[in-house]
Amino acid sequence: MNQDRIDVLRAVPLAAFQHVINGRRVCASDGGAMSVISPVDGTVLTTMARGTREDTDAAIAAARQAFDSGIWSDVAPAVRKKILLNWADLIEANALELAVLGVRENGTEIGMALKAEPLSAAATIRYYAEAVDKLFGEVAPTDPAFLGLVHREPAGVVGAIVPWNFPLMIGAWKFGPALAAGCTMVLKPAETASLGLVRLAELALEAGMPAGVFNVVTGEGAVVGARIAESMDVDVLVFTGSGSTGRRLLEAAARSNLKRVYLELGGKSPNIVFADAPDLDEAARVSAHGIFRNSGQVCIAGSRLLVERRIHEEFVEKLAFHAASIKVGNPLDTATQSGAVNSERQLRQNLQFVEEARGQGRKVIGGQRILEETGGFYMSPAIVADAAREDRVFQEEVFGPVLAVTAFDTEAEAVALANDSKYGLAAAIWTSNLSRAHRMVRKIRAGLVHVNTYGGSDLTIPLGGVKQSGNGHDKSLHAFDKYLDLKTAWIKL
Ligand code: ADP
Repeated sequence: MNQDRIDVLRAVPLAAFQHVINGRRVCASDGGAMSVISPVDGTVLTTMARGTREDTDAAIAAARQAFDSGIWSDVAPAVRKKILLNWADLIEANALELAVLGVRENGTEIGMALKAEPLSAAATIRYYAEAVDKLFGEVAPTDPAFLGLVHREPAGVVGAIVPWNFPLMIGAWKFGPALAAGCTMVLKPAETASLGLVRLAELALEAGMPAGVFNVVTGEGAVVGARIAESMDVDVLVFTGSGSTGRRLLEAAARSNLKRVYLELGGKSPNIVFADAPDLDEAARVSAHGIFRNSGQVCIAGSRLLVERRIHEEFVEKLAFHAASIKVGNPLDTATQSGAVNSERQLRQNLQFVEEARGQGRKVIGGQRILEETGGFYMSPAIVADAAREDRVFQEEVFGPVLAVTAFDTEAEAVALANDSKYGLAAAIWTSNLSRAHRMVRKIRAGLVHVNTYGGSDLTIPLGGVKQSGNGHDKSLHAFDKYLDLKTAWIKL
């Protein structure tokens, strides 16, 4: 990463952003726009179209028309593959520009953003593009008087509603497999992380994607997102975000066309450290990064640290050391390890959790607003060293750099504490005891259980939650299941 080049890009003035609907950039039907505030310094970066119901309907109609025409769904998979690979190449060629644009809007540290956003999106598109001409149907082992064929067909128009923490990465986890499968899409980015996805839609057109296949409508969740959810013309709805919005989407699907709804709703993931962890220093370092990078704004963040009591004090000390050495600051400086909190609202919520813990007499290390003079939204990592299981900071997702630490005595207690959550997205176990590691993997109710590490998994493994963390899976070939319907042909021979 070249700091000089980043410094040039961060100063580029941005023109107003528009929707990308049916292959064209369009303003909101009523001309409305909303300000895009940069969390880096609190200034207005630009404006973007404030989508209306009419805009959303236009995008859905374009996606419907593109799907039904067969221009994308009914061509040889190799045709889609070629265009998707072109798209990935263009994203990669513009990676630094896209990363800086995204960071100016959402505050993620540039080092992480470059890898996790454009480069990860390009890799995801490639992964699914490469797979698409290697998926086969089935011939069922039926009575020989019949032939039973199982086809896999694109499911139709997909609505995608995505969050602000990793818009390109999470967006690509949805549109990568959906578009490769032959579906068309209307995507609604989050209010505070839309610009990069609009750029991606423009690059898709440059790559040769037909008009109407991939549409992006910016604006408010309660307007654009709600309209997608209640549409009779959207066949599948995929979402990453909060549980309360997830509930609304399910209700809207039930009220409309019973579209299938797949939800990824975050977590309160337990990171469990036993005294026999192979290397406690490494465990403390990785655990600190597992919660504090990107200001804790990571769905799978290890936000509940469960530590065996006899190393509790020692481990919290190590953790505090690593937390204090994480460089929080301007996300566009390459030396920064944790950037700005996404919005002022989110910053306030994070600080409220910390204040509440202090008010309850908990021992809190860090957790102050910092760099206020920049106008941006920054805070130092917070460790609540002695959280009780009934504390809000132990039970609720903060989605900020706030870690709740609780001690346990036995393996059984660790499992009980880990599972004492409405969520079930991720977890980790640090131990040298192989049998214990496997026992814990089985007993912890979560979609992803790390052993002796945290985060950093690649595209080949599925990511999805259990309990109120949602349903369905992003990543891996399993993601295709959401976007491909099974169709059976039963033929008398
Ligand atoms: P967060 O609180 O983390 O921002 P949300 O669930 O509110 O989580 O946001 C995730 C995505 O859901 C965003 O794109 C947002 O605009 C969208 N959204 C918010 N409210 C609604 C709603 N009522 N209907 C549909 N989408 C919504």
